[in-house]
Formats: sequence, structure tokens, C-alpha cells
Amino acid sequence: MTEIEDAAILRSWYGPQKPLHTTIQMPEAAQRLGAASFEGGNQVNLDLRNLIALQDIELKIASLQRQISDIPNRISSLQQELQRLEQSHQERNSHHQELTKRRRTLEGGVDMMRARLARLKDQLMAVKTNKEYTAMLHEIQMAEAQIRQEEDKILEIMEELESLEVELRKDESVLRIQTQEVRKNIQACEASIPELEAALRSLNEEKVATEALIDGELLDRYRRIASLRRGVALAEARDELCTACHVRIRPQVYADLLKMEGIHSCDSCSRILYLRESV
Ligand SMILES: [Zn+2]
Repeated sequence: MTEIEDAAILRSWYGPQKPLHTTIQMPEAAQRLGAASFEGGNQVNLDLRNLIALQDIELKIASLQRQISDIPNRISSLQQELQRLEQSHQERNSHHQELTKRRRTLEGGVDMMRARLARLKDQLMAVKTNKEYTAMLHEIQMAEAQIRQEEDKILEIMEELESLEVELRKDESVLRIQTQEVRKNIQACEASIPELEAALRSLNEEKVATEALIDGELLDRYRRIASLRRGVALAEARDELCTACHVRIRPQVYADLLKMEGIHSCDSCSRILYLRESV
């Protein structure tokens, strides 16, 4: 079970996440005495309730801190995405430039071939013998075939350029939209920091107020366990088992839990045990 699920269960059972001092009016002495003495056997273990509220607050604080410390990472990954988008666009652009250059080179070549062809045709008029004429004609046919071949290549390139241009135009509008979106996300990330920090401050205040309701020794014990158990010092007891480590709870301890007497730890994982109140 995750910490958050733990907290959700605590909340679902113990109701509002506020510490008791804001939900139930009672004299301080009664708060300190705890459950059994309050309102004639009302089975509420106040110490436990306040600990649960404290743990809930602390889990929320930890989650907020994670969110805040994760923001620089999120921003940098968004910036990388922006770079990737621009890079792929640039790659297409340079492919387009290359093709254009190749097309010009081929066209230059064809121009030269045409000039040569014209010369050959002029020379054809001046030949004296049949043999010379046939040879010249053959040369002209070869040159014409070569020109056709080069022109086919140019045509292919022109077709490729055409579809590339369509893609580039499409790319440009997509890139513009995606870039705007990523920029907006970056701004939202940056803008969320003050709000998260304000929430963190108010949770910290709530934490201090809740801690003030808890007996010092018990709070120390809670802190020791929390530091050993990744911030989760409480575990629900159910069917005589600790739900955190699944080890059986001693019958005497379970009986005390049922009577809401005292604060008990699991023998195995040391977490402070609590029972759902309907038991
Ligand atoms: Zn345990």
C-alpha cells in the first residue's frame, strides 16, 4: 500500500483531515486525557486521532515537496521537447535546401548538354560524307537521350520538393501550435510554484498546531518511527494483524486496541497501531 493510499484510508475512516482541535470543542485537559474519559466512554482515542491527522498532514507535505522539487525537471524536459521539435523542422529545411541545390546543378548540366547538342546539330549541316553523317547523327541521339535522362532526374526532384514543401508548411503550423503549448506548460509550471509554496506553508502551520495537541513523549516516539518507516508511523490493525507488515498482533495488545486503551506499537515493524472505530 502506498503512503497516499494509507492516508486515504485514514481519511475515509477518520473523516475530515483537520486535527481535532478544529472539529470538536473540548477542554484541553480532556484532550490530554484522551479517549475513554471524554463524554462518558465515547470510544475515541484522541491521541491517536491527532497522530493520524498529523501523519495525514505530513504525507501531504511530502507530496507537495516532491511536486515542487520536481518542477525544474519538468521544465527542463519540456525545453528538451521544444528543442526536438525545432531540430526536426530544421532537418527538413536543410533537406529541402539540399534538393534545391541538386536541382540547380542538374539544370546547369542540362543547359550545357543542350548547348553541345546545338553545336552538334550545326556541325551536322557541314558534314561531307555519309559515314560522318551517320556518326554525327548517332552522337546527337546519344546526347538527346542523356538530356532526357537528366530531365527525368530533375522531374523526380521537383516532385519530391513539392511534397516536401507541403509537409514543411504543415510542419510549420503544427510546430507553432506545439511550441506555444510547450511554452504555456513551462509558464504554468513556473506559475504553480508560489501556489504550491503557499499550500506548503499553511500545511506546515497546521502541522505545528497539530503537534501542539500531542503529548511530547508520544510525538517523539512517532517521529522516531516515522524516520525509520519512510514517514509512515501509523498502521491499521485488522483481524489481529498489522496491515503494514502483516505480522500477527499479540492478543493482549489487540484486546487493548479494542478497548481503545493506550498507544501500542506493532512488535514487528514498530508502527503505532490503530483500529477502525466501528470495531
Ligand atoms: Zn507491523
